Order: sequence, then structure tokens, then C-alpha cells
Amino acid sequence: MTNRTRLTVELAGIVQGVGFRPFVFGLAVSLGLTGSVTNTGAQVVCVVEGPPEVCDEFLCRVESEAPPLADVQKITAVVSVPTGVSGFVISASSHVDHERSSAVPPDIATCAACQAEAANSADRRYRFPFVCCTECGPRFTVVQDLPYDRSATSLSSFALCDSCRSEYEDPGDRRFHAQATSCADCGPQLTGASLAEAVEALSGGSIVAVKGLGGYQLLCRSDRSEAVQRLRDRKHRETKPFAVLVDSVAMAEQLVELSDAGRAALEAPAAPIVLERARSSSIVAPEVAPGTRLLGLMVPATHLHAMLMADVGVPLVCTSGNRSNEPIVIDDEVAATAFGDIADLVVSHDRRIERRADDSVGQISAGSFQLLRRARGYAPGSIALPSSGPTVLGVGAELKNTTCLAVGDRASVSVHLGDLENPATLRAFEETIVDQIAFADADVALVVHDMHPEYLSTKFAANQDLAPTLAVQHHHAHLASCLVENNHNGPAIGVILDGFGWGPDGTAWGGEFLVGDAHGYERSAFLAPVGLPGGAQAIREPWRMAVAHCLGALGDVPPLVRSLFDGERLDAVAALCASPTTLETSSVGRLFDAVAALCSLQRTVTYEGEAAIALEGLAAGCDQRGQGYSWSETDAAALISAIVEDLDAGVELSLVAYRFHWAVADFVASTCVRLSEQTGLDTVALSGGVFQNRLLVELLLPMFDERKLRVLRHGQVPPNDGGISLGQVAIGRAHLAASRK
Ligand SMILES: [Zn+2]
Ligand SMILES: [Zn+2]
Ligand SMILES: [Zn+2]
Repeated sequence: MTNRTRLTVELAGIVQGVGFRPFVFGLAVSLGLTGSVTNTGAQVVCVVEGPPEVCDEFLCRVESEAPPLADVQKITAVVSVPTGVSGFVISASSHVDHERSSAVPPDIATCAACQAEAANSADRRYRFPFVCCTECGPRFTVVQDLPYDRSATSLSSFALCDSCRSEYEDPGDRRFHAQATSCADCGPQLTGASLAEAVEALSGGSIVAVKGLGGYQLLCRSDRSEAVQRLRDRKHRETKPFAVLVDSVAMAEQLVELSDAGRAALEAPAAPIVLERARSSSIVAPEVAPGTRLLGLMVPATHLHAMLMADVGVPLVCTSGNRSNEPIVIDDEVAATAFGDIADLVVSHDRRIERRADDSVGQISAGSFQLLRRARGYAPGSIALPSSGPTVLGVGAELKNTTCLAVGDRASVSVHLGDLENPATLRAFEETIVDQIAFADADVALVVHDMHPEYLSTKFAANQDLAPTLAVQHHHAHLASCLVENNHNGPAIGVILDGFGWGPDGTAWGGEFLVGDAHGYERSAFLAPVGLPGGAQAIREPWRMAVAHCLGALGDVPPLVRSLFDGERLDAVAALCASPTTLETSSVGRLFDAVAALCSLQRTVTYEGEAAIALEGLAAGCDQRGQGYSWSETDAAALISAIVEDLDAGVELSLVAYRFHWAVADFVASTCVRLSEQTGLDTVALSGGVFQNRLLVELLLPMFDERKLRVLRHGQVPPNDGGISLGQVAIGRAHLAASRK
């Protein structure tokens, strides 16, 4: 008898819903091995029998040649005595007792092969809106339970027709075990308005609601000001930019200056919204993205969107189907009433969306793609943790909330949920936590929340009975989030610049240099605090911060600045700054607001960061680059004095804005050099919403390079508060590990 062996290979990670079993089948059969492959919910288990050297080759190639959407995070192999099994089979998924995976695969935009079929009039799926295969289509948004099998998805009520079934059962077919596959005969059907009606309405300038992968979206022509303005009025969304749907990368090139990284991001399987610099010649109406030079574009994620785009022929505004600040609508009955006074038509279908996923948003920062809103196509994909440990839940911050569950050695960040002060968003937050825990089927050992006593996520943590709680400082969580994402173990110099985070001293932090890691930190430097006159009012009215910074720097408000804010309640605000009961803040986000107001940009804003975005745009348009204001102290007084002097001298505003950006970069770099000398650390982690600023990062990176400091930045997880929950679980794990010692 020839020398044979039996090899059992277990693969964990994103291995479900990505064509893994057909791939294993094909590989094993091509190598002449016998055995089986099965999904257990936690992993894919392959059992192969054959000559030992062939089994070794199988083990090698099963990892190196895995399908493009798979992410093998762990692989184990055990050799045993062969049983003489003949043939190779794909076994039905089995529910076994071991730990279930939280690795539900994310949704994937229609792949090229499916697009080609849907465009071919001779194909049986010609113009079929729901075309998909093992390499594309809905997953996270249709999964009801694990393991990922059709019977546990919202496709279960659509019985496969004979043609689809034979593809589904044929190991040589692209749709072998494609759980969401169907065709016009057996699959979901469009409901509500027809495609032709929607195309006609859109062409004529109407607003149409469309049921997408992760929720309803609102569409209208992007080239008609009155259509875009009507959408703003009806949605109660004043100035926050809208994204635009294009049919192809070629159409994107006409609207924005597309970088190589931007092109790659647009074509990524997740099909996110990608922000790039808008072309001045673009046909997109100014109402689409007022106050910013950037425009967010995405390509169709489903063939339904592709057909709408092809038939209308012009780029379409495509925004979440919701009222301002509410979660994206996924329920058909809710849609029928919610869009009554927003959309002129609703295009829906009868495949249920099991859980919501907004469109993801990212930008190209210093040549690489960086997510700003992590949702459809990315969530619930997980991030590697330094080691395995107890299950920890992070409930996130208040704004741009996400939640995160650490199970084993992986942390899964939820989809972007939004601002918790909205009651419907708060409900979605609670549902998401229940959902995450149910999928993981694990007992939570610790619930980690922000130190801010008034955050609704903090109140949730205080009132739950899952596990004990741990309060974590906001900027410490930002630091830990950046370290985990970059797989950096050990301390670093964290530069955390953002809007607002509760400090243990009762002031509002936001311009912090924290030296440390997940185990702890030292607040080594920070921007000298100034008054935050009127609290939240100061966030909505950046001119108040201009007054606060002038008072801090100059002791009074100079005549020029008075004239800028003529008619505002300036003296009342100045009195507030002087009041001992006014909260103080070291926020660099608020410093950007102050300078934007001094540069005559936004006096008031409708969303946080709006003034800073306008200031960055102004500075980016400056053509006299070079050095800026000299400012190396943590006290911004010298900086503000220099700005007021320039304004008095009539220096061009774009140059003032540029010099300010340079000064912030120089201040950050020189402070890091000082801390590096003090601590011996040479790694800097950049986090916080201010680091969404592309110009700041562009100026900063060469400064770090020159000073031989290594930089860690966010990419897969947002630098804004969407990344807080990941940092919280990392700190929670460190806390548990330390308390066990
Ligand atoms: Zn496909
Ligand atoms: Zn069919
Ligand atoms: Zn923050």
C-alpha cells in the first residue's frame, strides 16, 4: 500500500461567504486528494487524505491561494491515520459546540463577472438587479444567524429554481454555494415604482428613494441646483456635503482629480464613497458640497444602482435615506411613511435588510486611503489584537458612535451608528450591541465606556447588567485605537487632536500629547486651555472661540476682530470667557474653529468640523507655500497675535490659513521631538478628528521624517470618534490582563 496520510486543516477568519469551500474543493480535486470540507460556523474545516507531500502542498496553497475576499487569520493542521475515504465532498454546514465566530463577512459590490452577465442580453441574468456570486453581493446585511448558509439569510424564502440550483450545487461553478444567488425566475422582485418610472423621475429632477444593500438611499440629479436644494430642504440637511454616484471610474475622472490611490479605493470590493478634490469644470451643482473643495464619489454597489446610473446617464446625488441625524431606514413599512414628504417615488424590493449599513466614506490622505466612516463593505470585518483574552465590549463615544466587541484575538468594530443624542440612533446602538453579543455567543467580561458622565453610551454602561464597567479617558482610547490598528505593541508618543473629550481634571481636553499605550498614559503636554464660552453653543458658533482665543492671547478683543463680529453678542461672550464657571478647553479642533472665524469663514456651523474643513480648503488654495507662523509653545498666544497682525496688514486670507496649518504642524513636530528626547521613544501615533485634515498631515509627515520619528496613522479605522470603541476594548483587555497578575 502506498504511503498515505490524513490531514485535518482548520481555517478561521473571514472564510464564510467568500467562496472558500468551492476553492478548497477545486484545490483538493486538482491535487487528487480525497476527503471533505465543511463550515462549522467558527471556521472552515478541511480533511484531506493522500501522499504526505501532496497534503503538505495542499496546506501551503490553501493559505497562499485563498479567494481574494477571504482573510485567513488562523490556520491549524493535525496529521492522523487515514481512513481510506474516497472522493471529495462539501459537507453541509454543521453546528458544532465550539466557540462561534463573529466573523460575518461584509457586503461586496457586484464583481466584474456578474456585471458582464447583467450587461449581456443573451445571459439569463440580463438586467437582473440582484445578480451576485460567491465573490460579491450581500452578506452582513442579509445574515440572520451563523453559520453563513442560505437558510440563515433573508434569501431563505426564495427557493432556488432548477437552473440556479444546479449552479449552486456544481463545484465547478462560480455560484457554487453562493448563498445569496438567484435569478429573475426565483429571486427577489422590485416593488414600488418600476425602474423606468424611477429613471424618468430622476431625469426630470425628482427625488427617488432606492432600497440599497444596507438601507434606503435618496437619489436626485447632481447637476441641477434646484433638485439638490429641494433634497436639502426636505431632508433638513443644511450644508453637510452629499455624495455622488457615478457609473464608472471614467465618469469620476470628469468630476474630481482622481489619484491612483483614489482610483483603487473607488474600485475596491467595498465600493466606498471616496473624497477627492473636485474639478472646477465639474457639472456637479455647488449645492452638493458647499464650503469644501472635496467631492465624495462612489460607483454602484448593486446592479440596481448600475442600471439607474446607466439609464439616467448623469451623476446622481446618493445619500442615506433618513431624516437628518436619524439612522438609515431599512424597513419597508418605515420607508413608506418616512419618505412620504421627502421622495417623489420609492423603488424597493422584497428581500429583507436584516441590519443596516450606511455607505462607508474614506479619503486619500498623504497618498493612502483612510476611512472616515466605516460601514458597508468593511464592517464587521475585524482587527487583530496583540493576544487572545476575555470578551470585552467597548460602547464608543457620543458622536459618530461605533461599538466594538473583542472576542479571542480579534476586535470587531460595528458599522457607523451616528450621534446618540438622536433617540432612534440610541435604539440602533442598543440593538447593535445585542446583535454583536448574540453573534459571538460569548459572555462579556468587561464593558468599557468613555469617562464623560453625560454621554448616553456611558449611561448605557452604567445601566447594563452584562459585566462590570471600566471608564476610559477619551484621548487615551484614541491613542490605543491607533496603536492596535497599526499592530504596535509598547508605548508611543500619542498626538491626539480633536474637538472634545472629558479630562479627569474636569476640563475639556482636545490638544493632547499622551505618552503611553493601552496599559496607561501620561499627559506630557497639552494646548494651554481657554474658555469654551457657552459650551455646546461654542461648537455651533466658531466666532465664540475666536473671541476666547483673542482674550487668551491678547487680553482683549482687538478692534479688527470686533468689526468682524459686529452685531454678535460679543461682550456677553467675552464676559462668559472670564467667568470662573465657564468650562475650559485645550481643544485644537476649537482652535481651528477660532482661526476659521478670524479668516471670515464660518461664524456658525451646522455640523462639527465644518469650519475646519473650510479653513483647510482655503489654505490648500494658497500658492505661496513656505514656512508659517512660528509657534512652539503650548500657549497659542503668539500664534493668535501673529494671525491678528497679518489680518490687520491685509495679508491674503489663504496665506493666513496656510501659515496657521504650517504652525500647527511645526508645533506638533517640535513637541514630539522634545518628548522623544525625554522618553527615548521614536514612534508617534496620530489620532483624533483633527487628523482628518489632509493638508496638516501632508505638512507634518516630512517634518517627522526629517527628525527621524516613525509615524502611525489611522487607515482601516477612522481617526475621529468612530475609532474610540476599538481603543476602549484594547484598554479593557490591558486592564483585565494587569488585574490578573
Ligand atoms: Zn459576482
Ligand atoms: Zn433562479
Ligand atoms: Zn475624539
